[in-house]
Amino acid sequence: MIKENLQRLKTSLPNNVELIAISKTKPNETILEAYNAGHKVFGENRVQELVPKYEELPKDIEWHMVGNLQRNKVKYIAPFVSLIHGTSSYRLLKEINKEAKKNDRTIDLLIQFHIAEEDSKHGFSFEEVKEMMEDEHFSNYEHINIRGVMGMATFTDDMDKVRKEFKSLNEYFQKLKEEYFSEKEDFATISMGMSGDYEIAIEEGSNMVRVGSAIFGARE
Ligand SMILES: *Cc1c(COP(=O)(O)O)cnc(C)c1O
Repeated sequence: MIKENLQRLKTSLPNNVELIAISKTKPNETILEAYNAGHKVFGENRVQELVPKYEELPKDIEWHMVGNLQRNKVKYIAPFVSLIHGTSSYRLLKEINKEAKKNDRTIDLLIQFHIAEEDSKHGFSFEEVKEMMEDEHFSNYEHINIRGVMGMATFTDDMDKVRKEFKSLNEYFQKLKEEYFSEKEDFATISMGMSGDYEIAIEEGSNMVRVGSAIFGARE
């Protein structure tokens, strides 16, 4: 089933949209099924789960951290993580920079915006990002590379609302691009859309979707 789900998804996604398979709560055997079907990019939302999976599974897997990341856990994923989606404060970015430097690497990340109405979802406001970008020390953080933005819509059946939230994330992306990253070609990622809303997300400009249950089936 996993192989078929992946194939169906991949043929339906536009070419510019990257698929991140969200494997949280799924055991290694299940992930290997997707891996053996040719998929190499996976996302997890908890450090405690991501680290053992990284250690046990093939080393050519690209691991994305998509969940809310706590500062004291950055050190565990800094040696290997490919892209951090779940960022919500300047302090966290500083910590990622510090741990990246210790590992003698640069870590790619996305700026997570709070676009949903729920407080349980994390992320920056546009004002907070602006303040960070304009901080005189910001350019000293040379071990982080900002690749774009990420957001999660409100959990609701109201698809107009979801669409509006995705639209706002796209607008934040365009504003940041204009104001701070116009010369930076790899500031190009808009990570939005999950199993229930990725089609709308793509219509609103997403080029990276994070899909779990539509590939692996429902979680317990
Ligand atoms: C779980 C999760 C997803 C995938 O959710 P599905 O509805 O299973 O596709 C995407 N993004 C984040 C941040 C998640 O935590």
